[in-house]
Amino acid sequence: MTASAFDIAILGAGPVGRVLALMLARVAPDPARIALLQGTAPASTADAAPAADPRVLAMNHGSRVLLESLDAWPERSADIRSIHVSQRGRLGRSLIRHTDFDVPQLGSVVGYSGLYARLEARVAQCGVTLLSGPPARILEQDADGVRVAQGDTELRCRVVVQSDGAGGEDLRRDYGQHAVLTTAHAALPRPGWAWERFTSEGPLALLPHPHTPEAHSVVWCSTPQRAAELAALDNAAFSRALSAAFGDRLGRLSSQAPRHVFPLALSARRAQVQGRVAAIGNAAQTLHPVAGQGLNLGLRDAARLAQALGAWLPGPDASPAPALAEFAGARQFDRLITAGLTDLMPRVFATGLAPVEHACGLALLGLDLAAPLRAPLARHLLQGFRA
Ligand SMILES: Cc1cc2nc3c(=O)[nH]c(=O)nc-3n(C[C@H](O)[C@H](O)[C@H](O)COP(=O)(O)OP(=O)(O)OC[C@H]3O[C@@H](n4cnc5c(N)ncnc54)[C@H](O)[C@@H]3O)c2cc1C
Repeated sequence: MTASAFDIAILGAGPVGRVLALMLARVAPDPARIALLQGTAPASTADAAPAADPRVLAMNHGSRVLLESLDAWPERSADIRSIHVSQRGRLGRSLIRHTDFDVPQLGSVVGYSGLYARLEARVAQCGVTLLSGPPARILEQDADGVRVAQGDTELRCRVVVQSDGAGGEDLRRDYGQHAVLTTAHAALPRPGWAWERFTSEGPLALLPHPHTPEAHSVVWCSTPQRAAELAALDNAAFSRALSAAFGDRLGRLSSQAPRHVFPLALSARRAQVQGRVAAIGNAAQTLHPVAGQGLNLGLRDAARLAQALGAWLPGPDASPAPALAEFAGARQFDRLITAGLTDLMPRVFATGLAPVEHACGLALLGLDLAAPLRAPLARHLLQGFRA
């Protein structure tokens, strides 16, 4: 085993790990002393590689500002100017418009693969040490540092950041839902509109497509069995099922695109920091995709950690404990609120109990009528809480 020493090792080079690397590279006296460990996938799982990831991501205004400041905003994106939230078969809906908040757009949709490609290019230029190899693992930590192994290479690091997307074991909830992802065309398209429709099986979202202005990206959450059935339907039958579930607001929907299925669960760590190890992004909390909050929250983790470690990096012989404690304290409220909201929404709307569903419908109606209530919720979803 060869050994190398780093001030910080970032385990996992997804969007959150890469954004942290870019932010740290800007403030580090010597960016090469920061290692970004990228796990290479076996050739048999090439479809699961980030460059081929079919996810579309709704990025809020705050995330866009952050990514643009790093020159990491992908080439192609679609703006969301109105969000329509409704419930299938029940009264009530809520409409949020960009004009309500005096912003040019409420958010934007990007492809995971496009964002990843842009971040990959930026990280290659930023001066951090990029190490590719088998999945990295933490061997042990002591008072002075952490030992990490990547294949036959051993690293000695002062601080380790886990950004491997693997969630945590402290809090787990299986929603009994899988998401079917695809693209659909509408007979009456409405560019700039995002739709979130709650059904008893799970939420169905139609978002502006990042590459094709006249198309919509579909994220359809349902029971695992129903998701498997939907994925296996022929295009005509799937299009009919989608139109029936979504309703007629966009006219007839038709889909000819491949479908991909993602299992959905909540998994989170109670503590974001343990000794010299911090977790961010999906490694700290993997959320239900309802309301598109996971990556937005992860980017806020990365930005706050970069701020805390940036103050410690010029004197790395000192203990990083105060910086890490400051980070963990600052992130507590945002994590709690965002994880709580995204955990509650799919469960409340899917109880199958008519009185509860009516109450949800009324809540949506109330939200639409009561601007004072709606504004804080929408503002949180737009920007999140920053401490
Ligand atoms: C269907 C769906 C829709 C979504 N929609 C939205 C949305 O609209 N808006 C939003 O904000 N979020 C959304 N999300 C959530 C979003 O995709 C995640 O929050 C985001 O990808 C997390 O980024 P990450 O970098 O933390 O983790 P990941 O994207 O999982 O990246 C982690 C990386 O680390 C690598 N890795 C794993 N283990 C190791 C190891 N041991 N060593 C080295 N590398 C390792 C992995 O291969 C991967 O490349 C959605 C999720 C799903 C499933």
